[in-house]
Amino acid sequence: MQLTILGCHSATPRIDTNPTSQVLQIKNHMFLIDCGEGTQVQLRKAKIKFNRIKHIFISHLHGDHYFGLVGLISTFRLLTRETDLHIYGPKGLKEVITLQMKLAESWTNYKLIFHELTSTKSELIFEDDKVEVHTIPLDHRVYTNGFLFKEKPGERKLDMNAIFNNDIDVAYYRKLKQGADVVDNKGELIKNSELTKAPAPVKIYAFCSDTAYNPSIVPIIKDADVLYHEATFLEKHAHLAPKTKHSTAKEAAEIAKLANVRALILGHYSTRYNDYEDFREEASSVFDNVLLSKDGKSFDFDDLRS
Ligand SMILES: [Zn+2]
Repeated sequence: MQLTILGCHSATPRIDTNPTSQVLQIKNHMFLIDCGEGTQVQLRKAKIKFNRIKHIFISHLHGDHYFGLVGLISTFRLLTRETDLHIYGPKGLKEVITLQMKLAESWTNYKLIFHELTSTKSELIFEDDKVEVHTIPLDHRVYTNGFLFKEKPGERKLDMNAIFNNDIDVAYYRKLKQGADVVDNKGELIKNSELTKAPAPVKIYAFCSDTAYNPSIVPIIKDADVLYHEATFLEKHAHLAPKTKHSTAKEAAEIAKLANVRALILGHYSTRYNDYEDFREEASSVFDNVLLSKDGKSFDFDDLRS
């Protein structure tokens, strides 16, 4: 599982900084999370193949989180994409995108499937045999969701030494991987735990931007491996946070601590700051494992677990 930050700044694109967008590689998926202006250029810089993106998750309809979407959809069309594209986001997203395509008479030659969200409770919005995605209802000036990406447990691993010593027929391997007990060639029942090892632990990523300090999300993101939480302000500007429904670095760290996550990644920095180390320092007074997002930077979840 790997997270690539394409943009991690708030408000406007600038010479060296991009608004919010990330790519999460999980199992065989490349999920695009938010799509601020400039996302497709950042995707090219990160050498991510456009065709691998089949699902896009949009947190809310503030421009710094989706103004790159219609451009990306249009580029996919020009590149003669044929693969379906699923887009998950707040109700209204379909209207705003299709209006632009309609006025330009530029309909896509691939299937565009909108999954519009309206629930204020966490819901399962994507599932296949390896991965689940749930919404994380956030507290912002407009309807906003974060997203929880969760691997499903894999099959148990065969302990070939134990299998050989117990003389287990190959016909039982499939059942063993699924957790069943089996009978050996003498007709004796052997417990699954004696013949297999536990699968690798599942990995969980929680994306939370934009939001005011909101401890009600803690049960949803509990024990996640990695939490990306917005930290628009430092405590010295804490008075701006409730008004704009954003968080400070310290508040993000408090959520990380309450949720017992392994690592916290900060981002969505306000344009008023130039030194992001201050964010790390402030959050580190509350929570140990604080990392700073940076445009173009990748985080490998195996490294973050250790
Ligand atoms: Zn916003």
